[in-house]
Amino acid sequence: MIYTGLTTENKLNPILFNNRYVTLGKTFFVKTSPSPVANPALIKFNDSLAESLGLSVANLNSAEGAEIFSGNRIPEGAEPLAMAYAGHQFGGFNPQLGDGRAILLGEIDVSNDGSFAMQLKGSGRTVYSRDGDGRAALGPVLREYLVSEAMAKLRVPTTRALAVVTTGEQVARERLLPGGIITRIATSFIRVGTFQYFSARGDVAAIQKLADFVIERNYPQTHEAENPYVALLKAVVERQAALIAQWMQLGFIHGVMNTDNMSIAGETIDYGPCAFMDDYDQSRVFSSIDRHGRYAYSNQPSIGLWNLTRLAEVLLPLLSEDTEVAVEVAQDVLKTYVESYQNHWLTGMRVKCGLLSHPDKLKQDKTKQDEALIEELFNIMAANNADFTLTFFHLSRLPAQTVTQAAAQASDHDSDCRNLFDNPEQFDNWVIKWRKRLAEERQNDEERQIKMQAVNPVYIPRNHQIEAAIRAAEDHNDFSVFHDLHEVLQNPYVQQQGKDRYMRPPEPDEVVTQTFCGT
Ligand code: AMP
Ligand code: MG
Repeated sequence: MIYTGLTTENKLNPILFNNRYVTLGKTFFVKTSPSPVANPALIKFNDSLAESLGLSVANLNSAEGAEIFSGNRIPEGAEPLAMAYAGHQFGGFNPQLGDGRAILLGEIDVSNDGSFAMQLKGSGRTVYSRDGDGRAALGPVLREYLVSEAMAKLRVPTTRALAVVTTGEQVARERLLPGGIITRIATSFIRVGTFQYFSARGDVAAIQKLADFVIERNYPQTHEAENPYVALLKAVVERQAALIAQWMQLGFIHGVMNTDNMSIAGETIDYGPCAFMDDYDQSRVFSSIDRHGRYAYSNQPSIGLWNLTRLAEVLLPLLSEDTEVAVEVAQDVLKTYVESYQNHWLTGMRVKCGLLSHPDKLKQDKTKQDEALIEELFNIMAANNADFTLTFFHLSRLPAQTVTQAAAQASDHDSDCRNLFDNPEQFDNWVIKWRKRLAEERQNDEERQIKMQAVNPVYIPRNHQIEAAIRAAEDHNDFSVFHDLHEVLQNPYVQQQGKDRYMRPPEPDEVVTQTFCGT
């Protein structure tokens, strides 16, 4: 049974929806209510996100919130719908995907901050469910909550997690699992695949309408351009280049970079089989369904371009009336991706390594030297199974003074870092070159270390920790492991007392080699 009434209490503080997606018209979605669940319980509510959205924590972090975030009660002003989209999945085009287990409740305006869309995921079947049950198992929902919120704290653009509920029902996967629903917040749930949906139907008017909508909501600065659609494509390309560079700098593997999982707003979206790597391996793949490594760590930048090329193709009719000109324009815009990605990557990596003198102030060949030095670090990390996060964590704490190899081996500071390498001498050789380069820096050790520590996290949501949180929750109804891990990840750049276990890579028997979509 679905309730639509409001209690006196929440009449004072309702969610002030101002729904715009619904104004696009009925080819863009199917109005669908969530399917009620047996026994909803609120596991986690994101107080600080709620506050930043102007929502009442008192009203929503409550039994009433459990009703709303399970889909049992539709809050006043919500207009629930399932969005239509298509998408290239592992390279093959599917003209009709759509929200098969997600429902957009509506959008809210936040003064000076724009508009945010609120979506339930795991809330029951829709017309797009195909053979799926429209539900989500609790495990993947907890994973999404942990990783998306960690990403936000790591300053990576992402959809956010507002709430998690358990449903009191089971979902049938390889075995029966407890069900969960996550409430996500995004600046847009429109994907590259949303544009492809209309392209596959030859509906150029709808593509234009959608592009106008995205320009107004997410890229208002492009409105004034001579051709706003060219400017839009350029801006989307730029955001994706910046986003994927950030993933790469943290060792994050999205796992399923299908075009339906690429947000038009440049936020990380759809945390299915994603994972952070422990020891560095550029060919690392976790997703159980990625059999050919299409979405391996090192392929992510080029897959980003592949997906953006699919977007450019569907936007062609808006780029110019003349198809040949449109193709040329699209190609010119797409060309900016590689340079932008490289710039973001190198700029970020230089800060991670403490090479802070501004590139413009350095000669071109110096920048090249920095790039080579950074590449060399990655090469020795790969050859020596060094942990990605810990390498940069320890590097951020090393003094700059040039020391001899013998002194480096004896130094306490260096030993933590060099011991991450199977053959520590390879690190010793590299660190001598690094210190030579640091001698050109103007900052003293302290200034440099502060800047490095501000971008090199102490804690990332390590796969084995997520797995432990999920096991405790699913197998023993114990959410304390989830809550602890979440708490630590709230401050990823600050070493916290008594939390060293969250820094450690997995023991051999804890290694998680595969992740699952949880569909
Ligand atoms: P994903 O790989 O999770 O991005 O999902 C790809 C497509 O499958 C989307 O259209 C989803 O809505 C749909 N889907 C995934 N899981 C389910 C499910 N349990 N029930 C219905 N549809 C689903
Ligand atoms: Mg998806």
